[in-house]
Parts: sequence; structure tokens; C-alpha cells
Amino acid sequence: MDRLKEKVALITGGGSGIGRASCCLFAEHGARVVVADLAVGGGEQTVRDISAAGGQASFVRADVSKSADVQAMIRHTVETYGRVDILFNNAGIEGPSAKLANYDEDAWERVIAIDLTSVYLGMKYVIPHMVQQGGGVILSTASVAGMVGFPGSGAYAAAKAGVINLTRLVALEYASKNIRVNCICPGIIATPMAQRVMGERPDDRVVRLEPIGRLGQAQDIANAALFLASDESSFATGAPFVIDGGYVAR
Ligand code: NAP
Repeated sequence: MDRLKEKVALITGGGSGIGRASCCLFAEHGARVVVADLAVGGGEQTVRDISAAGGQASFVRADVSKSADVQAMIRHTVETYGRVDILFNNAGIEGPSAKLANYDEDAWERVIAIDLTSVYLGMKYVIPHMVQQGGGVILSTASVAGMVGFPGSGAYAAAKAGVINLTRLVALEYASKNIRVNCICPGIIATPMAQRVMGERPDDRVVRLEPIGRLGQAQDIANAALFLASDESSFATGAPFVIDGGYVAR
């Protein structure tokens, strides 16, 4: 249970779903965790859960689409724990469901800002710290929606495809600096986001999209994130890791 011993991890969207499960798992494995989220209640609850389990965590409120907030959350991490070994760009929103000709322009801008620009900002401002300290790990949550056509998902799918390719090129740019950059492409995961899109009880047709026969759980993605954040994946960089119950294999 010490796969991230002495590491410092900053995880965005840590107040809910995949982010919360990752914060708790990383802390369980010895990381000191900064939980960043727009939602104060959710973020503070994650910190309480970690503390109750004997781990170390701190909350910082941040809107990941805003440069000043991203810079402040990284500063908070370095000031609180002295370094930042792992940045997990996980926060995201689903945006509206509409065919492209009906996709609202303001919604497009908002989804791109929260789901793609945020990843650029996180990488841009964390990399100088990682270079200075001799290395680090950057992880981001993309989606299977960034790998295959996903009708109705407009800006979300475009943003997630952008995250996948940004991952590749930044991995190449900084491989020589001992910074590994990867992303995870989840299938449908039972979180508040998925509930907003599909309702509380997804019908069998949705579940059957994932050949393994069940929806993913936030813990399934946290487990992959733990591997990618830890030294066990020291030869992995520049890759999208698909964790989707077989969704894109069809
Ligand atoms: P979630 O339960 O809705 O959690 C997302 C968290 O991000 C929420 O706490 C949310 O706060 C926060 N957030 C939203 N906008 C933010 C912003 N501008 N700045 C900072 N935090 C912000 O969703 P999830 O399913 O865990 O999603 C996590 C990531 O997985 C996302 O990037 C999502 O696109 C990706 N993903 C999810 C699925 C799935 O099926 N669930 C599949 C593929 C990829 P609020 O609650 O206040 O909005």
C-alpha cells in the first residue's frame, strides 16, 4: 500500500466521481494529495474522507479553465508540500448533447475551455516545477469519445481528441526531462456525470455498449491512474490508455 510513498499529487475534479476515487486511492498509497475542484463541498468532503482514513490531503478551489486559478493551485501544492510529482488533469464537463448544426457557440467555448484548455494550462504551469525538481508525471482524463465518432457530443469529443494528441506531443517534448505524460480514455463510468447524461438507471442498451457487461466504476479508472502515476509504469509515456470494458474494440 505504498506505491506512491513520498509523492505529492495534485488532482483536479477531486470532489466527485473519478477524481475523488483517485484522490482517495493515491492517499491510501502514501501520496500527499491536493484536491482541486470548483465545488467546495465535494472537494472538502474528499479531504475529510482521506483524513479519516489516516492520509494527508489539502483542498484548493480552482476553476481549471482559468489561468490564474491553475497557477494558484500549483503554487498551493508547492507551498503546502514542497513539490509536485503528479498532476492529474481530471476535471471535466459533458456539455450539451446536440447535432453540430444545433450546437450552441457559447457551450462550445465553455466545453473546450474546461475540457481542453485546462489541460494545456495545467501542463504549461506544472512543467517548469517538474523540470526543476528532475521529473514528474502528468496524467489527464480523456475519453473514448475522443477516439471514435460519438454523435451529439460536439465540443466534448473534439476536446478529448485534443487531450489525446496533446498528451503525445508533450510526452515527446519532455521525455528527456524525465517527465512522463499519459492519458486515460474511460468508457461509460457510473459517476454523477454519467447520471446526468443517462439518468439514474441506464437501460440495458447502454450497459451493452460495454461488451464486458457492466458500466465502469470510478475505482476502475482510479486503479489505472495509480499505475500510471507510480514508478511501475516508468516505461510508459505519450499513450492513451483505454479502460472501457471493450467499448472501442467493437
Ligand atoms: P463528475 O463526477 O461530474 O466529476 C467532475 C468534477 O469536476 C466535479 O467535481 C466538477 O465540479 C468538477 N469540475 C467541473 N468543472 C470544473 C472546473 N471548471 N474547474 C474545476 N473543477 C471542475 O464526473 P466524472 O465522471 O468523475 O468525470 C471526470 C473526468 O472523466 C472528466 O474529465 C470526464 O470528461 C471524464 N470521463 C468521464 C466518463 C464517464 O462516463 N463518467 C467517461 C469518459 C471520461 P461540479 O460538480 O461543481 O461541476
